[in-house]
Amino acid sequence: MFTSIIGRSVLVTGGTKGIGKGLAAGFVAEGANVVIVGRDREVGERTAAELTTADRTVAFVQGDVSAAGDCATAVAAAQELHGGLDIVCCNAGIFPAAPLAEMTPGQLGEVLGINLMGTFFIVQAALPALQRSGRGRVILTSSITGPITGYSGWSHYGASKAGQLGFMRSAAVELAKYGITVNAIMPGNISTEGLADLGDEYIRTMEASIPLRRLGTIKDIASAALFLATEEAGYITGQTLVIDGGQTVPESLEAMG
Ligand code: NAP
Repeated sequence: MFTSIIGRSVLVTGGTKGIGKGLAAGFVAEGANVVIVGRDREVGERTAAELTTADRTVAFVQGDVSAAGDCATAVAAAQELHGGLDIVCCNAGIFPAAPLAEMTPGQLGEVLGINLMGTFFIVQAALPALQRSGRGRVILTSSITGPITGYSGWSHYGASKAGQLGFMRSAAVELAKYGITVNAIMPGNISTEGLADLGDEYIRTMEASIPLRRLGTIKDIASAALFLATEEAGYITGQTLVIDGGQTVPESLEAMG
């Protein structure tokens, strides 16, 4: 469908599970070569083997995006394995809840360090390669939580996800001269391993508040990201795309009829 993705070199942070795994699978299905990054080696190697096809490689690089050195290593591996780097998906993220009154500096630092600073580190490390590509794409996985909505216990998470959008707008302007676009997808509630950890009650309540009456799938997210990665989307930069089944639209539960 998206012929301009064939043969591209793609890096997906947090590509070992959930949304990132869906992104990696989507890019492979469209003919790209993919490197996935995560901290857990066993899970990462299993996912890479699962996603590798007869003619497309998925390689796992162990790394923590909150460490600039690990980001540099992952970017170098992608270039070495796949002859350059064209598309970077900054997707790695965590969402542990912590009430504001009890949140420790350590808890705050961990969420900002992975979700927000990790975005900076990966893009900084990838910049020379994206410039060489001449058609570089950066796709951030932000969220509806923070930029649009709020959720008790997730003030640090919301700040990190809104912060990604602040980063995106200035980076989009700064990198446009290299032909690099920077955009963000904003998922609503997507069925992933991470979301499952929030429990059945959370999921039931969410489903009831989504006009399309279901959680999103990792495929729903991959389709949007794939579009932003194409040549055809080359004139779109500094923009956001909400993929939430309409969750942020109704004024109240009653409004859904
Ligand atoms: P998930 O199922 O928990 O997967 C998270 C992925 O990120 C895993 O591959 C994990 O691997 C990796 N990761 C976490 N911390 C990392 C670190 N420090 N360095 C490198 N990799 C790291 O989560 P998900 O639901 O797919 O969420 C993925 C992204 O989507 C996050 O940015 C999240 O904020 C965003 N999002 C999710 C939803 C949703 O409903 N699921 C909604 C809106 C936004 P390791 O643990 O092995 O490192």
